[in-house]
Amino acid sequence: MPKKSATKKEPAVSSKKAPPQIAPPRGMRDILPAEQGFWDIARKACISIASTYGFERIDTPIVEETALFVRGVGKQTDIVEKEIYSFETAGNEKLSLRPECTASIVRAYISNGMLNQPQPVKLWYMGPMFRHDRPQRGRYRQFFQFGCELLGEMDAVCDAQLVIISYLILKELGIDAVVRINSIGTPESRVNYKNALSSYFRSKRARLSEEDRKRLTKNPLRLLDSKDPAVIEMKAEAPQIVDWLDEDSKAHFMRVLEYLDEINVPYQLDPYLVRGLDYYTKTVFELFTASEEDEATQSALGGGGRYDGLAEILGGRPTPAAGFALGLDRVVSKLKELNPQIEPNKVEVFVAQLGEQGRKKALMVFEELREAGVKTGEAFSKDAIKAQMEIANRRGAAWAVIIGQKEVLDGTAIIRDMDSGTQEIVDARKIVQEIKKKLGHG
Ligand code: ATP
Ligand code: MG
Repeated sequence: MPKKSATKKEPAVSSKKAPPQIAPPRGMRDILPAEQGFWDIARKACISIASTYGFERIDTPIVEETALFVRGVGKQTDIVEKEIYSFETAGNEKLSLRPECTASIVRAYISNGMLNQPQPVKLWYMGPMFRHDRPQRGRYRQFFQFGCELLGEMDAVCDAQLVIISYLILKELGIDAVVRINSIGTPESRVNYKNALSSYFRSKRARLSEEDRKRLTKNPLRLLDSKDPAVIEMKAEAPQIVDWLDEDSKAHFMRVLEYLDEINVPYQLDPYLVRGLDYYTKTVFELFTASEEDEATQSALGGGGRYDGLAEILGGRPTPAAGFALGLDRVVSKLKELNPQIEPNKVEVFVAQLGEQGRKKALMVFEELREAGVKTGEAFSKDAIKAQMEIANRRGAAWAVIIGQKEVLDGTAIIRDMDSGTQEIVDARKIVQEIKKKLGHG
């Protein structure tokens, strides 16, 4: 520091105004330790079921070129029009936080030449997505998805399997889901349907919101995805896409449904289900709980479908593909509702200490137990035995090893049965052995 400023008089600390606190960005939140247990359970169920079906993990960057989403997700979708977080870097790159992962995975499939691997390529991913959505219950600006993508195969059995996997993950978590399913055919077969749909809604134009009028001219299918109650009501009489499907899409859809029947996955045909992204072809589906509230707020736990045209849109070779994504924030909140209490991060044994000599010895005993594979707890910053025993109880320890000044001098340790409170003295060199015996670790 230059000398001059050192002589300058600093204002007294007490007169300083406390700097304003900083909150997380709107619509984003901290996931605190107390909640992590639920997230772990949800993630484990996703991974274990996806792995059983032969899916392997992939991680793609959280930011991608904006063009990937504009082309992949679709220019006229809510996601790209209103919800995407885009920015320009100091190096003039136009990048966006990913609003979803399917486009990224298809990009990765193309970039990494996965076309040359045995097909289908089956991938799963998990991580944060970003959408500048209106924050409300179950709707965040950073949220987490788990998803599976199956690339390079067009058979209807793949569509069915993806429905089954997403359904089974929820079932594994005790969440009773119902699948809503539809086919939106090929882009060619959709042309005539789009015309029929826009002439239907044009006749009701007066009742449409500003936003839905825009949808009407730009992308009439989006109207079916509108959350405006008036539009939902108008939908009931609208032409249905099934009546406009080409023969191939119809046959494909029938086969998907037959496979679902085969293994008793409950589904409802939803002739107006279109999904919020442009890339879908043929099968589309969403997963809901049977709860009326979720139905009213239209908050799906997940959704997916086939997207045979996406690879080509992104500059790759034509590649049939399908996938789904589960919204983990909503899955976790359901899971919590169903199981309000879960086990805390439990330990088998707790190492307690008294006095500086005891603490030093206890540090080593903790390491020995940990290395021996025993789940061990400690509170080395605490002095009082009482406080340490409280923590031991909270963490569910069945046994405590207690080491004080006397024990250090004698080369012993106390082992306490946390349930009965009975204590015994053991040779300090045999602590690990004694504890393992008590825990039945062999
Ligand atoms: P919604 O109709 O609820 O906006 P979406 O069609 O935009 O959903 P998808 O892009 O299909 O959603 O994403 C799959 C799943 O991800 C959704 O079913 C939902 O569970 C979850 N999801 C989507 N957007 C959000 C968000 N903003 N906050 C939390 N979860 C979300
Ligand atoms: Mg949305």
